Amino acid sequence: MIFSFTGGLFAQNTFLVACADGRTAVLVDPGAAAPSALAAAKAKGLSVEAILLTHAHLDHIERVAFAKRETGAPVHLHPADRPVWDDAITRAATFGVPFEPPEPPDADLVAGATLAFGGSEFRVAFAPGHAPGHVIFVSTTEPVALVGDVIFQGSIGRTDLPGGDYRTLMESIRSQVLVLPHETRLYPGHGPETTVGAEARANPFVAPLYAGHFA
Ligand SMILES: [Zn+2]
Ligand SMILES: [Zn+2]
Repeated sequence: MIFSFTGGLFAQNTFLVACADGRTAVLVDPGAAAPSALAAAKAKGLSVEAILLTHAHLDHIERVAFAKRETGAPVHLHPADRPVWDDAITRAATFGVPFEPPEPPDADLVAGATLAFGGSEFRVAFAPGHAPGHVIFVSTTEPVALVGDVIFQGSIGRTDLPGGDYRTLMESIRSQVLVLPHETRLYPGHGPETTVGAEARANPFVAPLYAGHFA
């Protein structure tokens, strides 16, 4: 069960993922709405065991220091996004976003590894292009993936920020997203949830390039 909370200057989605055991949860990308996500966890009796980051853009780590302090849960980030993490303070100043500098991440995400929490399991898929160390979390037990800013309903992640690259992003979408079963529900970092099938058919950035290969 995935609960989404939207907030902040960039209308970022923070996700509370309730695990199969009904007691455990993970927090994904604690942005401005992280306090609401943690309040929901408390109300539902869920213990947050990990903080998982798809990437380290400011809007996705805006409240990571708060979330770690509240939960004590370890923060997981792919090491290739560490420069982006380190740049967040500068970005916050640029945008005038109040930002509590977090301690360094606790754990390195590894491409292809699986993470198990409370009877649920997620595969870490490396999907750079929007950010150099961007990953997506693909459930191995449900047709669900948390895709960060790789792909959105009808759009794709921007590639003009440091470490971004358009061709790399399109290859990540082809090799890591479009290969998932079409019924897979995608939870992006901005905007509503969608499915692999819907984006393969109708996403104007993706369908002309790749839909034919997967139809
Ligand atoms: Zn981003
Ligand atoms: Zn974002």
